[in-house]
Amino acid sequence: MSNKKRKLIERLNSGPVICAEGFLFEIEKRGYMASGEFVPMVSLEHPDALENLHRDFQHAGSDIVQAFTYNGHREKMRVIGKEELLEPLNRAALKIAKNVATSPIEGEENLMAGNISNSNIWKQDNKKSQMEVEKMFREMVGWAVDEGADILIGETFYYAEEAYAALKVMKETKLPSVITIAPYGENIMRDGVSILDTCKELEQRGGDVVGMNCHRGPETMMPYLKEVRKALKCHVAGLPITYRTTKDHPTFFNLPDNNGCTCKTPHETTFPTALDPMQCNRYEIGKFAKEAFEIGINYIGVCCGATPMLIREVAEAVGLKVPASQYRENMDNHYMFGKNKRIPKHIKDYRGKA
Ligand SMILES: [Zn+2]
Repeated sequence: MSNKKRKLIERLNSGPVICAEGFLFEIEKRGYMASGEFVPMVSLEHPDALENLHRDFQHAGSDIVQAFTYNGHREKMRVIGKEELLEPLNRAALKIAKNVATSPIEGEENLMAGNISNSNIWKQDNKKSQMEVEKMFREMVGWAVDEGADILIGETFYYAEEAYAALKVMKETKLPSVITIAPYGENIMRDGVSILDTCKELEQRGGDVVGMNCHRGPETMMPYLKEVRKALKCHVAGLPITYRTTKDHPTFFNLPDNNGCTCKTPHETTFPTALDPMQCNRYEIGKFAKEAFEIGINYIGVCCGATPMLIREVAEAVGLKVPASQYRENMDNHYMFGKNKRIPKHIKDYRGKA
């Protein structure tokens, strides 16, 4: 055990680094956020709930504690008429993350990450909107640096140029940068740049870790990650959602329920509140992580749909032992399916009819 805290690239050079994302979905499921609106007021309104989720992810093996400021940007705060809470919200989220990162369960401290993401007001060829977005990024990055972020994560960008702008602002700080894109179902960035070319360009522009997060499940993210890993020299990141996206429906936005839903959902899509039946199980997520690691992707995590159980699965799939490994499955002692010799024969024999 060492008190020395290694930097991100040093950690990536020596092995896998696990990052839990997906705070939006999980905090919503825990009852502290309105779905659809998706504003991370939780850092101000229920700071304990947010800290608990960070702690749960830490226990499950997340090396990075990502401040929950996704959607906590000026534009979103304007939409809900609470712009005055923008800075308090950001600082509260960063402080909570810092507090968790600096009190690890065992071993070295975690890395606290400041976070910027898709603004949803970026417009191609519109300088005014682009300047506005850059300003939003710059103020959030400023607060992150102020609150002691070890790294910066820019994520879920579906415009190539918006990702470049985010990286530019992140790089002004000299902190290590992780930049990940989230193309929609057309399998191309909305400004027409291919997924591969966007990642190549992000590397050229100095991204320390480049890759993909969100929107896509393992099946529709992995083919692109393979291309990206082959073409880039820098570390690559892969953080899929935990849903069974398909060739016909590469993202979760239009994923149909193919598993027998018997009622009408209140809106046209299963996204974002009725995706549950399309959830990947832990073995599928573990398989993704193992494959990613085997092809040389060292920055691995899970985005929307992430739970502590899945983060543990990712960590264990790449050979790590984490605090939550103590509670990994042990079917041997199950009362019916177990192999323990104390399990009565008449109980075991009934398993096929259970
Ligand atoms: Zn996500």
